[in-house]
Amino acid sequence: MIRLYVEAELADGASIQASEAQAHYLGAVMRQAIGNPIRLFNGRDGEWTGRIAELTRGKATFAVEARLRPQSADADLWLMFAILKRDTTDLLVQKATELGVASLLPVFTERTNAGRVNLDRLRAIAIEAAEQSERLTVPDLRPARQLHHSLAGWPPERTLFVALERANAQPLGPAAHPAGLLIGPEGGFGPRDHGALDRCRFVRPVSLGPRILRAETAAIVGLALLQAARGE
Ligand code: SAM
Repeated sequence: MIRLYVEAELADGASIQASEAQAHYLGAVMRQAIGNPIRLFNGRDGEWTGRIAELTRGKATFAVEARLRPQSADADLWLMFAILKRDTTDLLVQKATELGVASLLPVFTERTNAGRVNLDRLRAIAIEAAEQSERLTVPDLRPARQLHHSLAGWPPERTLFVALERANAQPLGPAAHPAGLLIGPEGGFGPRDHGALDRCRFVRPVSLGPRILRAETAAIVGLALLQAARGE
């Protein structure tokens, strides 16, 4: 059954207007019809069943019927990541969403090649991954900032595990939340990045093993290890 994220409040008997993109997806891509069942979530009210009540070109509404699942708390795990090439950043956002990350913090590092990030595009990818992976929330996507600015705003009680290759650091294992993981860019962290990280008391350098992983692989492995303790 199709599962969609909506912004509106979900309640018994509510009527919800789909976005234009959702209407197009339902009608033109998925060939849905009025009366077909649908599952809806909004990150606050749990997951609901409903039906397509109206479907014309560019317009659809949903009739909300019954709650399937109550809202539950997400893992309190954040991912700070150096912005990568476009396709790799897309992949990283998709996988981090599937792996239950609550907040995504893109950063510019000394060796980041990209000049800007398209947050609307990344948010659309996160929404699609949340719909597909049966999450009840969509991760909070923060605006891209310089690494040192993001570190300055980091809550000091939240451990930030920084993945460092060739650093003889402790292997990363399951860890208590709240926590965060930082993954560097394709070329690794530069001296100025290391200087900024060394000044933060909440930083814990960690290894992901003896092989040098691509940044996106490192993110997936690191998040899986951090989630393992919670069975998530
Ligand atoms: N260009 C760097 C080099 O050859 O030394 C490798 C950078 S790696 C492709 C990208 C990021 O993935 C690193 O900044 C780090 O955060 C993470 N990473 C990759 N392999 C790792 C490992 N074995 N342990 C910890 N972090 C790793």
